[in-house]
Amino acid sequence: MSEYRYDLVHDHWVILAPNRNSRPDEFVEAGWKRAAGRCPFCAGHEQDTPPELARYTLAGRTDWQVRVVPNKYPAVVPSGTVVSVESWADESLPGYGWHEVIIESPQHVVSWSEMELEAVELVLAAYQDRLKNLRDQPQVAYAALFKNVGAAAGASIEHAHSQLLATTLLPPPWQIRLARWRKFYYDTNLTVVGQWLQQEQRQGCRLVAADTDWVAVCPFASRVPFEVRVAPRRPAAYFEQLDARLRRRLAALLQRICRRLEAVAPGVAYNVIVHTAPFDPPPHDYFHWYVELLPRLTRAAGFEWGTGCFINPVEPERAAALLKAAEPTSREIR
Ligand SMILES: [Zn+2]
Repeated sequence: MSEYRYDLVHDHWVILAPNRNSRPDEFVEAGWKRAAGRCPFCAGHEQDTPPELARYTLAGRTDWQVRVVPNKYPAVVPSGTVVSVESWADESLPGYGWHEVIIESPQHVVSWSEMELEAVELVLAAYQDRLKNLRDQPQVAYAALFKNVGAAAGASIEHAHSQLLATTLLPPPWQIRLARWRKFYYDTNLTVVGQWLQQEQRQGCRLVAADTDWVAVCPFASRVPFEVRVAPRRPAAYFEQLDARLRRRLAALLQRICRRLEAVAPGVAYNVIVHTAPFDPPPHDYFHWYVELLPRLTRAAGFEWGTGCFINPVEPERAAALLKAAEPTSREIR
């Protein structure tokens, strides 16, 4: 039986069609391949990237562990002022903004599953530092912080890296979403994400991990197989204000989820997206930050493009059970 489900957080709907499980050709071929040739992100090739904006070192070491550089082929270029949606309804505007690349390791690794916990934690600390830097730029309206792992997830360079793309305009879908979240908060005194977390905890059948600080869930209306959302249990608007103790625990949780996911689907491509409060003046008390992990085992096709609705062949309840049962592995790259 298939069913329709609605997601409170994003205001989207999905069709769960588990009968399609029996069609393995529905799944995109997974697998990481080590690219031949020179990698611009490996240690020793620093001159292949634009001059770095920041570097981070592990305690007790001298060499860099994480480097931040401007994107060599930026989607947007620095400068500009904040632009409201109304003013770009009928005209094109220069693509202003900031496009940074966070190189996550001096070694040629692909996934967080292959890194030391301290190294994953340092990546999260670098995210926080760069977001704080952007908050000082008055022109930023919105920042997308994301990570593409594997070609099917859009990675053009295999070496583990993330991107921070800040725009001078607030994307219309976020403008609509934030207005809905604000109204919900002022009506109920609850954040939308907090309300969704309560529902998930009450039902319990889609929890992947939960403790006093964190909840990780395959959401009720997951768009893709093995989608996972991670949020702090207590409401907080800013990912970048997470303290060191919680950051370490989040790094461990995200790494564990990656390892379990890769045990279920070896070589899986995935995206990680960090959603922190937007860049307009506070208060952002209606905002509860969260992280999404979106495995790319299926491909968006005509129906998804035409409707914005995803067809998911794996029920999130089954996905959560499989992830919980998976034996976490640290996988070697061929
Ligand atoms: Zn490399």
